[in-house]
Amino acid sequence: MTWHVVPLNDLREHTYSEACWCKPEVHDAPDWSRPVCVHNSMDRREYTVEQGKVQ
Ligand SMILES: [Zn+2]
Repeated sequence: MTWHVVPLNDLREHTYSEACWCKPEVHDAPDWSRPVCVHNSMDRREYTVEQGKVQ
């Protein structure tokens, strides 16, 4: 299970997967119980939502 940080209402929908079109970065955050997959917004704005999804 991985947390996905995905931009809200991005121009293109993201897949909750490390194989998403935006080439997300996976981080091992020491204070989280699971890795975090940070997606890149198509329009490069700040991240506005965090969601946890089961892979
Ligand atoms: Zn993505």
